[in-house]
Amino acid sequence: MDTLIDDLVTANHILYREGVVDGFGHVSVRSATDPTRFRLSRSIAPDNVTAADIMEFDLDSEPIDPQGRRVYLERFIHGAIYRARPDVAAIVHSHSPAVIPFGVTGTPLQPVSHMGGFLGTATPVFEIRDAAGPETDMLIRSPELGAALARTLGSATFALMRGHGSVAVGTSLKQVVFRAIYAEANARLQSDAMRLGTVTYLNEYEAANTAAANDVNLDRPWELWKKRVSRPA
Ligand code: MN
Repeated sequence: MDTLIDDLVTANHILYREGVVDGFGHVSVRSATDPTRFRLSRSIAPDNVTAADIMEFDLDSEPIDPQGRRVYLERFIHGAIYRARPDVAAIVHSHSPAVIPFGVTGTPLQPVSHMGGFLGTATPVFEIRDAAGPETDMLIRSPELGAALARTLGSATFALMRGHGSVAVGTSLKQVVFRAIYAEANARLQSDAMRLGTVTYLNEYEAANTAAANDVNLDRPWELWKKRVSRPA
């Protein structure tokens, strides 16, 4: 069994168990052997994903061998970001709730704890009206919208999508799962902190240094989260 596919299935289950995705949202991983290909489930709820559901796509987000399977409408998020970001090997798109307020208020999502250091000092916000006018359904339903989202993401690790959700990117599935989970946690903490008073955020050095420190410990939370979703073979 391909361990990347196994890990992608596990990532789907973890993201559901940890409250990042529900019936919606998806996670992908770039092929280890062909950087112009990535893997993503067919269009089903993440917690129901098995190895048999994993499909392969090109950087236009077109399935290589669809076999009649339904594909996620917003698969263009993935191909466009892999094309724009050679450093990215895994992507999570979700509608996790706590980050949504930061996409709609102009209040920047910023790290309030060391676990959120990867957010850096400014989290970009994708405004779909800038890319496609006022009459969209908010969904990234074309390669062009995917490319526009990738431009907003720039070199960041995380971007908000106004009125919709977010995208997290990483150099591995373990890193992107960590980032998706802790972006949501940071958003909850930041909202709590802002209600209490003036917030002191991590500065640029603290953000960069804590991100680097957390990156050497990605196996530890991954193994814990994996244990919580382990199922009988
Ligand atoms: Mn979506």
